[in-house]
Amino acid sequence: MWGIKGKESNTFIGIIPIIITALLVVGIFVCQPVSSCYGPHITASLSASEISINENITVTGTVCLGTEEGPTNLTVRVTFVKPDYGWIEHFVQADNETGEFTVTQKLEMAGYWNVFPILGHITDRLGVTVTDPLYDPSNPPPIVGSPFKPNALLITAAVTTVSISAIVAVTGRKKKTRKISSLRLFIQVGLVFLIFFGMFIDHEILPQPASKIPVHEFLIATNVFGVEMSDGFPVPFFGCYYPCGKTVTCALWEIQTYIYPFWQTNRGWGVDYNSSGLVRLAIVFGSVMLLSVLLGKFFCGWVCPFGLYMDLLTYIRKAVKIPHRDLSEDFNKKFHQLGYVILALIIVLSVIFGSEAIANAQLIPGTEEGGFIYQYFSAPFCQVCPMKPFCVLLQSSVGLIRPEWIGQVTTGQFYELGYYITSLNLIVLGVVTVSAFLYRRAWCRICPLGALIALFHRFPPFKWVSVLRLDKVEEKCTKCGICKRICPTQVTEVYDEKGGDVTTSSCILCLRCVEMCPYEDALQLKAAGKTVLRSRNWLD
Ligand code: SF4
Ligand code: SF4
Ligand code: SF4
Repeated sequence: MWGIKGKESNTFIGIIPIIITALLVVGIFVCQPVSSCYGPHITASLSASEISINENITVTGTVCLGTEEGPTNLTVRVTFVKPDYGWIEHFVQADNETGEFTVTQKLEMAGYWNVFPILGHITDRLGVTVTDPLYDPSNPPPIVGSPFKPNALLITAAVTTVSISAIVAVTGRKKKTRKISSLRLFIQVGLVFLIFFGMFIDHEILPQPASKIPVHEFLIATNVFGVEMSDGFPVPFFGCYYPCGKTVTCALWEIQTYIYPFWQTNRGWGVDYNSSGLVRLAIVFGSVMLLSVLLGKFFCGWVCPFGLYMDLLTYIRKAVKIPHRDLSEDFNKKFHQLGYVILALIIVLSVIFGSEAIANAQLIPGTEEGGFIYQYFSAPFCQVCPMKPFCVLLQSSVGLIRPEWIGQVTTGQFYELGYYITSLNLIVLGVVTVSAFLYRRAWCRICPLGALIALFHRFPPFKWVSVLRLDKVEEKCTKCGICKRICPTQVTEVYDEKGGDVTTSSCILCLRCVEMCPYEDALQLKAAGKTVLRSRNWLD
């Protein structure tokens, strides 16, 4: 059944990621018809989008439970999050007949405030800019001392982890068949800390008043050809923008949100843009294209934090001596195609959601500001992304998200999606964890970001100019089959092909095959035609 072989008989686990990832995104819309009161939600608005410091702002909102019963005795919590991530809370009773509520708050700090009306696991998010007339943005006062306080706890954790991985790398390099893997592990671990660089900054001691410059904006200001990429530079690996300090940002998130809801708007989540969504999208695709042509899926094998997570699962599986399972060759190839389907689905959904801004024709209800889609699906893939729970955990570890919110927004029915992570994120992460434990790099085989890299690396015309490639020298290959057995994504072309360029779209360039091939020079990693790594005879 399902074309999966003997020892690889656990078909169900291999199939679950397909079902979860492909169907639930679409299923939500089928199961949750949109109407004026489409389910539990809060729709709120602010009396102004910009005020002066020490002025009042009023939040007016409505709770809709989407049930026959009215909103009886509901208490809404309205949280005003300051630019320095401190907060002020109000608890207010919603009207028993209409569900309406109102809260007024004086904002005493300049900068961008997030405002969240919250009821259990449902919430709306709003934002207001507070300006300080005494502050001249063109002439900011000098910052005395360092604007950042290093986060000592995280730095200690980073130094310890990197040191341990360095010891593992040095020890591993003594083994002939672990030289590349040890180096790879060291680089993967080190890069996690570089990618999440923003986490090293303690956000509690921002320069005051915060209008002078929020710490994230200090870190970013990535400017590409005059286009401010305020969410960070787009990169082809998983890492949500918020815990990365907006230095770098997952390209998938930017692709989705720049189509919808930030196609036209000048403001994103807590940042300003100086260009249209189309221009920002051009930068995102251009950057991913360039990086993919240069390094291809090297990002997957050596950089992506989620790839490291799956490799760690493999290390644990090996430590407890559980053998891995393999999908059948045929099935694996078809499974791999799913990544392109998910990628297409993400883009199509985002375009449908953004149809009003893009073509002045709202194709489905709920995409207006405050609507169901706007609140919960502004980045549809992120609602199921298995990496997101890790991003949120990282963020809460330094106080940027209140830990109790994480719990609150993951309860409820699956369609009652939360604000930060959803029950779907946790379900997908759980399924991927079990799958990747048994099937090496299970998620990478269908990852839409991996598919995007492959499009710009392994398909013409990009394939013709791609810099990194795996080469095979046919005369030196003895058909021992080791490369086929040890490949984590079950690439077979390295074994099957006659020689020359054997890089495929599912190869993550982990170089395990180069490391394990026991014949001198049979497999080689080439950069711009020059051999940079080659297989060695480790049998002697
Ligand atoms: S949730 Fe996943 S897809 Fe979305 S930004 Fe984070 S890592 Fe990227
Ligand atoms: S395929 Fe996706 S999850 Fe896997 S390493 Fe690449 S970007 Fe990360
Ligand atoms: S073909 Fe080689 S480099 Fe590519 S994923 Fe498989 S083992 Fe790694």
